[in-house]
Amino acid sequence: MSFVPPFCPSSTCAAHEKPERRWFKCNGHYKPKCRTVRVPRFRCLRCGRGFSRQTFRHDYRDHKPHANAATYLHLVSGVGLRQTARLVGLDVHSVQGKLRKMSRTCRRLHDNLSISLRADEFLLDEEETYENSSIRTVTMPVVMERRTWFVVATTAGPIRRLARAGSGRRRRQERDERKHGRRADTSRKCVRTTLEDLRRRLPDGARIQLYSDLKSSYVTLAKAVFGDAVAHLRTPGRAARNTANPLFPINTTLAMTRDNNGRLRRKSWLVSKKAVRLVEQMQLFVCYRNYVRTRFNSDPPGETPGRLLGLIERDLQAHEVLGWSQQWGRRSIHPTSLDGRRTHDMAVAS
Ligand SMILES: [Zn+2]
Repeated sequence: MSFVPPFCPSSTCAAHEKPERRWFKCNGHYKPKCRTVRVPRFRCLRCGRGFSRQTFRHDYRDHKPHANAATYLHLVSGVGLRQTARLVGLDVHSVQGKLRKMSRTCRRLHDNLSISLRADEFLLDEEETYENSSIRTVTMPVVMERRTWFVVATTAGPIRRLARAGSGRRRRQERDERKHGRRADTSRKCVRTTLEDLRRRLPDGARIQLYSDLKSSYVTLAKAVFGDAVAHLRTPGRAARNTANPLFPINTTLAMTRDNNGRLRRKSWLVSKKAVRLVEQMQLFVCYRNYVRTRFNSDPPGETPGRLLGLIERDLQAHEVLGWSQQWGRRSIHPTSLDGRRTHDMAVAS
């Protein structure tokens, strides 16, 4: 199927917002060194800018674009950066560069696909990890939907968790603070960010049920973000961690994050040196969890959380997650569109 550009990629051009009929002309092809197929070129008849099919792709200007899908799949399968580099035949710095670019595309893809959620039961919990050294603790809150196990939002940031006074760990923490200053505690800010991320995706006036453990700050934060529109159901963290526990979906999802993201494995050398790198990794995981991986092992193939929530008509492959660039919001090309004609604002998921 031959590619049809949906709009002019220049944001200042009239054919960007409102492309009229016959706004571009075909302008030959070029043959890149990294591909066997020719790439069609175009010229905008309004602004005169030249562009190609590649302008609309995630791998625009990438070196070794054929390694992208395999790199992505290794990174969401618990493999570290160096081992991924060995397996896909790249330099470790190239893997780092690809990870950062993929994280941008994944964040935008998730935003473009989940602009509106039709669901009313959600779960919230935090995973505790650390950056660089185990004394520098980090929190990673996660908000997810209860029925489909769709991960709505996650982030990560430093927290200050002091060990018992007089312990060796506490002395190390005090030495660390004398050297680097008092450690920031962004727990409330991070939880609030994820709850606001959820609220943004809900229709106006939507009422929700939020499940969490007994942490008292969750009550005030949920009230601050949702007001009276939230019914907050709290379960003690010590309750048996079985399927009858209302927090079972999020307990299992957090276990899955440790399985799929090597840098969440404690006492391993994969642990993030900086919390911000963990946030980038989680963008990859969110797309994998929601749009690529089947919800449960017992579900029929293709039943991803995103499909079950009616956000997309089928599951995605890694090369589709990293297919079209998602930088134009809902006007970006939909990941299931082969010829580029269908954008998110035209897509109607079942
Ligand atoms: Zn133009």
